Amino acid sequence: MSTPGPSIGQSIGDSWNERMRMIRLRRRKEAFRFWDEFGIIPKWVKALCIVLYLVAVAIGVTVVNVDPASRFPELRDNTAASVLAVIGVITAVGIFLAAYILMLGYVNRDARRRGMNSALWTWFVLLMLPTSVGIIGLIIYLLVREPLPYPCPRCDKPVGPRFNFCPNCKCNLYPSCPNCKKEIVETDKFCPYCAAELKPADPQDAIAS
Ligand SMILES: [Zn+2]
Ligand SMILES: [Zn+2]
Repeated sequence: MSTPGPSIGQSIGDSWNERMRMIRLRRRKEAFRFWDEFGIIPKWVKALCIVLYLVAVAIGVTVVNVDPASRFPELRDNTAASVLAVIGVITAVGIFLAAYILMLGYVNRDARRRGMNSALWTWFVLLMLPTSVGIIGLIIYLLVREPLPYPCPRCDKPVGPRFNFCPNCKCNLYPSCPNCKKEIVETDKFCPYCAAELKPADPQDAIAS
């Protein structure tokens, strides 16, 4: 009888290691700048949020003007206060809804630029929102998303996150310590795990080897 157990365990272990490698790479290469991230949300999504807000305010203001019965009981005789109150409520709800809409726009574009299935991820995050776990969909997305391509440390050409070597200059993108074999960063002078001295990356190495 064959024993598929160990090989399945092996492949789960491998994909887990690969996933952790991707997460480490992302944390090393990707600085989070809020406005840069905000910038990838399509302009029409932002415009949609503003238009929906203005329409809601216009409807709310019209309703409290036309129908005093719709006002808060304490403000029934005060039109100005009623208008301010309805704008306040619409603004509070609007900020909440706009955050959701912008978040979906962000996930959609971010997934696309990372080569992930953007429609699938947008639906996943959206369908999680009404459940009791709410933004867990977004959290899962942020945890598992693929790293962005980044410039090769030696030749600056963009390299994919899953590349082991640069296709342009053969630079080792996952250098390891020659002594303890743990993953290190190109700029390390000494191994952070075993303190072995590391030679500076030499372009001749790649050609010679
Ligand atoms: Zn390169
Ligand atoms: Zn080492």
